[in-house]
Amino acid sequence: MAIAFISDLHLTPEHPDSGDWFRQFMEKAKGIFTQIYILGDLFEVWVGDDGAGPLGQENIQNILREVADSGIELFFIHGNRDFLIGEDFEKQTGCKILPDPTIITLDGIRILLSHGDSFCTDDIEHQEKRAQMVTSKWKIAFLNKPVEERISTAMEMRQKSERNKQFKPMEIMDVNQAHLENVMRELNVQTLIHGHTHRPAVHDFDLNGKPARRYVLGDWYTQKSMLIYENGSFSLRN
Ligand code: MN
Repeated sequence: MAIAFISDLHLTPEHPDSGDWFRQFMEKAKGIFTQIYILGDLFEVWVGDDGAGPLGQENIQNILREVADSGIELFFIHGNRDFLIGEDFEKQTGCKILPDPTIITLDGIRILLSHGDSFCTDDIEHQEKRAQMVTSKWKIAFLNKPVEERISTAMEMRQKSERNKQFKPMEIMDVNQAHLENVMRELNVQTLIHGHTHRPAVHDFDLNGKPARRYVLGDWYTQKSMLIYENGSFSLRN
């Protein structure tokens, strides 16, 4: 039996292909995977758990529920798009929310899981916005607004972020290697799995004189990027 890691599906009714792939992937998951880790940005936007219906995302929640009921353990780490996923979502889907970062142990090896945007420390604008949005004060104020208002705010923010991205050099939006090495050193891990940058790859480097590895998951816009752990080894598939 295997374990799957996926991220950055950016599901939205505007791109039904990704939703179809997600449904097909989850239908096939039974009998193959014991656990599925979703490392953030499952949804393109999330405005609070009561917004699932208005955003047309209830079908995705139902798929997760079926998979959880079939006995597969589902885990979720917030992405920068869906950081407002909360306890109601957890109850409805059976998908357990983990903090970012989280350390899991597979066959005795410690593995660090993260969405990945916290490692992009060169993107100061993103980090400032992130710091503001993760405070519970901001969250409470936002979630208290009517759902229609939250949806229009989210759409505006999304457009603004897409526009900004065009003017940012690619390196700024990638992870800062020195920063992530510090985090890995502090947490005593040699393996990291993350998404967010949409640059699927396996990066080998040296950490504390020992080999270290960083697996980067890709998005689901044009492919189905996933990392599979089976029989003691990982394989990145698209
Ligand atoms: Mn992201």
